[in-house]
Amino acid sequence: MKIETKCLHEGYHPKNGDTLALPIYQSTTYTYDSSEVIGNLFDLSVDGHMYSRISNPTVGAVEAKIAALEGGIGALCTTSGQAASFISILNIMKAGDHMISASKIYGGTFNLFAVTLKRFGIECTFIDQDASEEEIQKEFRPNTKAIFGETLANPALSVLDIEKFARIAHNNQVPLIIDNTFATPILCRPIEHGADIVIHSTTKYMDGHAIQVGGVVVDSGNFNWANGKFPEFTEPDESYHGVVYTENFDKAAYIAKARVQLMRDLGMYPSANAAFLLNLGLESLAVRMEKHCQNAQCVAEFLNQSDKVEIVNYPGLEGNPYHQLSQKYLPLGTSGVISFVLKGTRETAVHFIDSLNLAFNVVHVADVRTLVLHPASSTHRQMTESQLVEAGISPGLIRLSVGLENIDDILQDLQQALDSI
Ligand code: PLP
Repeated sequence: MKIETKCLHEGYHPKNGDTLALPIYQSTTYTYDSSEVIGNLFDLSVDGHMYSRISNPTVGAVEAKIAALEGGIGALCTTSGQAASFISILNIMKAGDHMISASKIYGGTFNLFAVTLKRFGIECTFIDQDASEEEIQKEFRPNTKAIFGETLANPALSVLDIEKFARIAHNNQVPLIIDNTFATPILCRPIEHGADIVIHSTTKYMDGHAIQVGGVVVDSGNFNWANGKFPEFTEPDESYHGVVYTENFDKAAYIAKARVQLMRDLGMYPSANAAFLLNLGLESLAVRMEKHCQNAQCVAEFLNQSDKVEIVNYPGLEGNPYHQLSQKYLPLGTSGVISFVLKGTRETAVHFIDSLNLAFNVVHVADVRTLVLHPASSTHRQMTESQLVEAGISPGLIRLSVGLENIDDILQDLQQALDSI
């Protein structure tokens, strides 16, 4: 099946007389005929749902769909993108371990790695993703367990050289974890370029309608967890009667361990209803992404031609520093998210945003509606002007998430706001 067809047909396969739409199995638990069967479930010697903190048939169908879209062996849904990042790391690291991450990543993930993981005893070194392989190699330590980056970074909109990162990771026998939120599997499938684990904030394009916060972790099934660096996969887990994940689950060990160990202990599993809503978004993901890219390309070119605009940051534009990488990794387009700076001051940017009629001023991106945000007044409000510049967020920067409205209406709205400056 091609990816558009997978969006509609993977995950749930109704049989004779079944509901056409994915059913919502709204139940905390599952009944069995005997204590023996339940005992077998707890021993992980048979398949089946035990309790909806660990698995659920509706969520399971969505996990199967997302795994198919990314080309992975399995997936685990979570209650947020933050939970997905956290679980992807915690599943392979413990206190005393170290990881490497690109520095151009979502601010919430940066904070998770720099502050919260540190409190768990896990240290993260942030690197310039455009540095040479030799320079990045220097940051590896004997206890380094993973390398992390975003396909299309939020909000920098830099494009990651995934194959370079995969080479470095595999030379060091550690997995490459990619956050593919902005690209979605429609625009880029990192596993095809060597990534081992892919995570998403499904809150963004996958949901697409600003109705449900969620996340997902996808495993490629390709990484060798038995290479000696990851004993938690190859030594008996006493909390599961001595199960050895690589022996019991073979190539599916990563998701199995994340589910039965971390979900059991941390409980960040979405409800059946949440998964049902996410599935609605996934069904139309391919057509939406195509249109988001088309509209954003037009908007980027329009802004680029305006003498009131200082700079437009969109990898789809020729001349953008990431244009070449975007043609390799995102040949169908670079999503609907653009950032740009107007000539003038911070106040000029605020005036422009407040003059927009169609675009909603919200703390969100990747929605069917056009959204706009002034990071310096909102997400990065606590920073001084000099701190903003250091963080790569100029005081006048505007983030625009181009929606699915008719392009003429979007451009007209932008034009009248530009005219008002
Ligand atoms: N990853 C990226 C690229 C994001 O943009 C976000 C949120 O904006 C997250 C992860 C965190 O996701 P969530 O807000 O669903 O927890």
